[in-house]
Amino acid sequence: CGIFAYLNYHVPRTRREILETLLKGLRRLEYRGYDSAGVGIDGGNGKDWESNAKSIQMIKQRGKVKVLDEEIHKQQDIDLDVEFDVHLGIAHTRWATHGVPSPVNSHPQRSDKNNEFIVIHNGIITNYKDLRKFLESKGYEFESETDTESIAKLVKYMYDNRESDDINFATLVERVTQQLEGAFALVFKSVHYPGEAVGTRRGSPLLIGVRSIHKLSTDHIPVLYRSSAKDKKSCNAPPRTDQDTCLFPVDEKAVEYYFASDASAVIEHTNRVIFLEDDDVAAVMDGRLSIHRIKRRAGDYPARAIQTLQ
Ligand code: GLU
Repeated sequence: CGIFAYLNYHVPRTRREILETLLKGLRRLEYRGYDSAGVGIDGGNGKDWESNAKSIQMIKQRGKVKVLDEEIHKQQDIDLDVEFDVHLGIAHTRWATHGVPSPVNSHPQRSDKNNEFIVIHNGIITNYKDLRKFLESKGYEFESETDTESIAKLVKYMYDNRESDDINFATLVERVTQQLEGAFALVFKSVHYPGEAVGTRRGSPLLIGVRSIHKLSTDHIPVLYRSSAKDKKSCNAPPRTDQDTCLFPVDEKAVEYYFASDASAVIEHTNRVIFLEDDDVAAVMDGRLSIHRIKRRAGDYPARAIQTLQ
C-alpha cells in the first residue's frame, strides 16, 4: 500500500545511505497500513556504478519495516559502503489482495530468476489471470500468487519481443500498461536500463519529488519536448502528437528524484513535486524526467505543473 523509490543522479551515495532513504520513505507510508515490505537495489560490489547495476538484489519480508531493516543488516553479501554515483532503489509496503503475505508474494515482483525487471505495485490488476495464462503459454514461469507478477513478466515479454535494440524503457512500460485492467501505481527498475526509472499510474496515486542544488524551471513541465531522442526542441506549447514527450529541463548534472504514493514521504527531501495523472508514463533517463500521457489526444493535455508544497 505504499510505493517509494529514490534515484540519485551524479549525487554520490553509499548503499547504506540509499537503503536508509528507502526505509525512511517506507516508514513515512506506514500509516497507510501494510503486511509486508521489500526493497530492490543494485547488487554489484564493484567501484563502477554501471557494472554494479547489471545485477539487482531484492530483500523482502513479511511484517513491519523494522523487520525488513533487520533482514537487510543480516545480509552478508551486501557491502553497505559501496558508493554509487548513479543508482535507483525501489521500495514497497504491501497490503495483500492476491496471495497471502509472504516473502515471495512481497514486492518487488520480478520478471525472472535473474531479476532482469522488477516492479512495485499498488492496486489490483483485474485481468491478471488472462495475462498469466498467456505468459505461461509463452514459457514464463510464475513463482508467486500475486496479480503483480504478471506485470513483471509482461515487461520482460515486451523486452524479449522488442523490434529493435534501442527501444527505451518508457516505451516498454507503455506497452505493458496498454494490456492492464484495474488500478495501479507502478515503478519499474531493470538491469537493462541502469540508472533509469519508469513510473506510471491509473487509479492509484503516484507523485515525483525533484531535488537539485541548481535552479529548476518553475511552473510548467512542457518546457522541452521531443519527438525522438535525437530531435530535441524547446517548447512551451502542449505536445501535438501522441509521440511527443515533455522533459523537465534539468541540464545540470546533479539531481535526485523520489517516487512516492504520497507527499508525506518526500517532503523531508524536497518540496518540489509533480503529481502524476492517470495514464502518465514518467521516465528518468540521463537525469532528465520526461512525462508522456498515453491514450489521450493533444487537446486533453494540460500542462503539468511542478508544485511547491508548503
Ligand atoms: N495487488 C497487489 C498484491 O496483492 C498489490 C497490493 C498493494 O497495493 O499493496 O500483491
